[in-house]
This record gives sequence, C-alpha cells and structure tokens, in this order.
Amino acid sequence: MQDKMAKASQILEQVFGYTRFRHHQYEVIETLLSGADALVLMPTGGGKSLCYQIPALVLDGVGVVISPLIALMQDQVSALHQLGVRAAFLNSSQTPQQQDEVRAALRAGQLDLLYISPERLMMESMLHLLSQVDVALFAIDEAHCVSQWGHDFRKEYKQLSILHQKFTDVPRLAVTATADQRTAKEIISELSLETARRFISSFDRSNIRYTISDEGAGRDRLWEFLAREHAQDSGIVYCLSRKKVEETAAWLTAKGRLALAYHAGLAPSMRQDHQARFLREENVIMVATIAFGMGVDKPDVRFVAHLNLPKSVESYTQETGRAGRDGLASNAWMHYGISDVVMQRKWLELSDAGELHKQVQGQKLERLLDLCEMTACRRQALLGYFGEVLDQPCGNCDNCLNPPDTWDAAHEAQLVLSAIYRTGQRFGAIYVCDVLLGKDDERIISNGHDQLQVFGMGKELSMVQWRAIVRQLTARGFIAVDAEGFNGLCLTAAARPILRGEQPVHLRKLSKKLTKTRAAKSKVPMDIAPDDEALWLALKAKRLELAKAQGLPPFVIFHDATLRQLASVKPSQLEQLDEISGIGAKKRTRYGPAFLEVIASFA
Ligand code: ADP
Ligand code: ZN
Repeated sequence: MQDKMAKASQILEQVFGYTRFRHHQYEVIETLLSGADALVLMPTGGGKSLCYQIPALVLDGVGVVISPLIALMQDQVSALHQLGVRAAFLNSSQTPQQQDEVRAALRAGQLDLLYISPERLMMESMLHLLSQVDVALFAIDEAHCVSQWGHDFRKEYKQLSILHQKFTDVPRLAVTATADQRTAKEIISELSLETARRFISSFDRSNIRYTISDEGAGRDRLWEFLAREHAQDSGIVYCLSRKKVEETAAWLTAKGRLALAYHAGLAPSMRQDHQARFLREENVIMVATIAFGMGVDKPDVRFVAHLNLPKSVESYTQETGRAGRDGLASNAWMHYGISDVVMQRKWLELSDAGELHKQVQGQKLERLLDLCEMTACRRQALLGYFGEVLDQPCGNCDNCLNPPDTWDAAHEAQLVLSAIYRTGQRFGAIYVCDVLLGKDDERIISNGHDQLQVFGMGKELSMVQWRAIVRQLTARGFIAVDAEGFNGLCLTAAARPILRGEQPVHLRKLSKKLTKTRAAKSKVPMDIAPDDEALWLALKAKRLELAKAQGLPPFVIFHDATLRQLASVKPSQLEQLDEISGIGAKKRTRYGPAFLEVIASFA
C-alpha cells in the first residue's frame, strides 16, 4: 500500500505539477487503491477529478469515467493529453470509425482513462467489452444526476447499480458537488454504495466574495460592477427568462463587451458555438438562463452575476459556485427586485406540481430571501444553511466589508411579534401584515382579529416594508416558519425579550431610495505587482497563441494561477519550472521554452 501511495504522490508532482493533495484527495485515493468504494462530496473546484485520475494511473487497467456531459468530454480528454495521459472518450458525437479506434485501444490495454456517457456504458456490447478488459475503477461523475428530485436527473444513472453486480471486484467512486443529505442518501441507495467510505469536504469557497443588493436598477448596478471590478474578465450573467437573456446580451454588446447569449430556446448549434467560445476565448461574458453551467469546468470564471433571484439557496450556491474554480479571487454578485419574488411566487402558484412540492419550493424561496435581506455575514448563513458552522464572520462578503445601514426597529418588531402572538401563531406573513395594516378582510373579520389592539397599528409602513421586517426577523431567528404545515409564523424563545421591549432590534434600512454604496475597500486582489503587469499580459498572449494553434481552451495549457506565478517568480531555467504549481514534466518540456523566452524578453 505504501508503495502505491508513494506512486500516487509521484504522479501528483510529475504529471500534474502539484506539490500537495487537497481536501480528502489523499484519503480517497488510498481508499480506491485498497480496492474499496468511495463517495466524495467536494465543492466545485475542490479537485474531484484527481481523486480518480491518479488511482487510474497507479493501478493496472483502465479507469472508466461515467460523465453525463458529452459536450465536455473532448476538453477533459484534451487536457489529459496535454499531461501525457493516455485518455479517450466514447460517445455519440464520434464517427463509427473513431469509436472503433477507441475500442481497439481499449482492447489492447492502451488506455489509462476512458470517458463514457451512461447511455453508451449501458449498451450490452459495451458492458461485454469491458468485461473482457482490465478495469482499474469506475468513477461516476456528477453522481447527483441519479436523484429523481434534483434538476439534473438522468434516468440512465438509475441503472448504474449494475456495475456493482457485474464488476464485483472493481472499486467504484461517486463524486458530486451537490451537498445536501437527501441527495447523498439517494446516491448511496441507487448506486448500491452502502459500504462505501464517505468523504465530505467543507463547502466554503473562501475565494468567492458574496454581494447581494436590491437597490437601484439592476442593469446600471451590473454595469458599475463590471466596470469597477471586471473590465477584462470572463464571467456569467444569469437571468430568469430567455427574453431578458437576449436583451441583456445585446445591451452588453452595445456597451462594448463581448457578450453571448445561452438559453434552451436557441438552436443547439448556436448553444454549442457560444459555449465553445466561452471556453476558448478570453474575456467573454456568457448571459444565460440556468440552462447553462452544469459541468462547465472553466477554471477562470472570475464572476457570476445574477440579475434575478435564483430559486433557492441550493441553486444560488450551485450557480455562484461556478466562479473561481482555480481558487483565485472571484465575485458572486446579485441584484434582485421585489418583482422577482412576485413572479417566482406566481409561477409556483400556476405550476401543476403537487401541493407539497409547491410548499417546499415556496419555503426554499423564503430561505433565499432571508439570505438576501440579512445584515450579518452571508457566508456564515450560507454554510449554516447546509449545516456547516463558520466560527468567525468571513470578512469577504458585502455585509462584512460594508456593514449595512440599520435602523432601530424595536417598536415595529414588537408590533409584528405581538400580531403573530395575538392571532394564535398559525397564520402566514401576509395575514399578519394585513392585520397590522388594518385590512378590511373577510377572514380577518370572521376570526375576530379586527378587534385586536394591534389591528391597524402599522399603517405608517407599506405591505412591502412589513414583509421585509417579517423576513428579517425570521432570518434573525425571532420568528419560526412552520415548514411542515402552511407556513404559519410563530415566535421562538428568542422573541420574548423583544416583545417585552428589553432588547434592541436593528434591521437593515428599508428605504428604497438609492443610497450610495461605498466601494469595497479593496479591489479583487490580483496578486500581480504593477511592475509585472506587462509580463503577465505577454504570458497570456503567448498562452492564447499556443492554445489557438491547437484548437484548445487556453486554460488547458496553463491556468491563470500558473501564469501569475510565472509572472512573479520569473524563472529563467527549465528546472526552475518544477517549483511552479501546475507544471508537470510533460508541460515543462512542451511549453517551458516558449514561456521562458517571453520572460527573458522582459528581463
Ligand atoms: P472539481 O472538483 O470541480 O471537479 P477539478 O477536479 O476540476 O475540480 O479541479 C479544480 C482545479 O484544481 C483543477 O484545475 C485542478 O487541476 C486543480 N487541482 C486539483 N487538485 C489539486 C491539488 N492537489 N493542488 C493544486 N491544484 C489542484
Ligand atoms: Zn462575511
């Protein structure tokens, strides 16, 4: 075993050019090399692929990677070829002849890694072929696709438990970045992974800065943000509707940015073309609906902006998680409006999903609004939502960097809490607010709640403002929502001192007026010294030139992090390149001289 792990470390350094394992990579690799199964939950950018790529290289035989993303297999395999790894893929995009070649290589034992779609894998002939060759392991990528409830459900994933029956001795690894417990349970039972070792990493993406605002007009705000922080970068702008995607892309183009649209209504060829350009060119903004994004592993997406409210905290996490896979500073920026909330609620109401589903989705939307309106650290809340505790405020979200203006809302909070209490702690937010507003409503009258002292006591504020107060009090834990029933509000123990007027309550300012937001104190840190900027740009240009010549995305040659290190260390000898993260033996020989030449010309 020690021998195998030594070999794994050697491959990490020589093939991939990295010095240390990250997260649970070491333990996962050890598990697979010992012949056992593993389930790995790791955030996007955490380094899931190394978990199966390295064991596949250590062990005899081929590592079979099941991936739902045909469009991306090509890039994954190209990236491996760059490292000198014998990899290939099999899917319906290939000609019969290309497929024959791959099968022949497989039979001849000439492959370390084979990427394959679940449909293809399930074909009788394919299973038969695999039974005749030496299989090192099976890696099931994006394993959450097995979940019926998730948005990425793929029915072929359900059949993958057959691997367990047919290839009893071959270790299996399921990986995903979709974190919640229900999904994990489904993966385990659907894929027969009951005995697999589980590895769950922290989902904190500390390099992502979270910013959420509802002030001002979304577009203007977006433009200020792009001009201030991302005048040159690649990123994604998410919109709720196809129409808004088209409009926003056209608007950004008119403003002089390279912006492309992506949504399910576009012809497949155009979608593919836009995705390929996003991957291969630099400084492209992809304006998209949520149809775009799964598995797009472009490491240098510097920002993800939302021009509308996502559906839930889960969606928000997944979508923003596409920023900064390379670990460098990135932004998750959101602007939303109350109209988003209204629209999402209406969609839910009109949808023909069952009552239970509507209720669950409605509550998820409320939890997301809590996150939007809170005044404390957003990262603590985000991680808390998924059951993880962050001890200290993060210092890298808008609320930490620019604590929001607050107002003394003790009196208003008392009114809300008392209205909830007096109406019997079973009505939803709208009812409670209607009581405060003194609404002439049949239900209120028939319940006798127009006779309460609080009835009509809140006329100086609007429905929107009262709802915001209720949401903030909920976010602070003074009000609980009956998640099992009909969203009735009730008081928590923490509400008592407020009801009695013994504790101050400071809430985020409600004014819809545009207050000038102070610019964040620091720009997104670019660890490039001003003196090195010209060199950095020249290195980028060289990378683009080399990538174009081979029809590859630039990041397949070197990541930004590698280029940045080159720009600051300025090596002059090939051997010195071993010190740079992301340069293994193959890439050193292949690209080292070209980049050293660029560096030398600046010396
Ligand atoms: P994901 O978990 O999202 O699939 P990847 O496997 O694509 O993540 O890895 C994200 C990035 O981190 C890749 O560029 C990969 O090369 C890099 N990476 C993975 N493991 C390490 C490591 N141990 N040290 C440095 N970089 C790593
Ligand atoms: Zn914070």
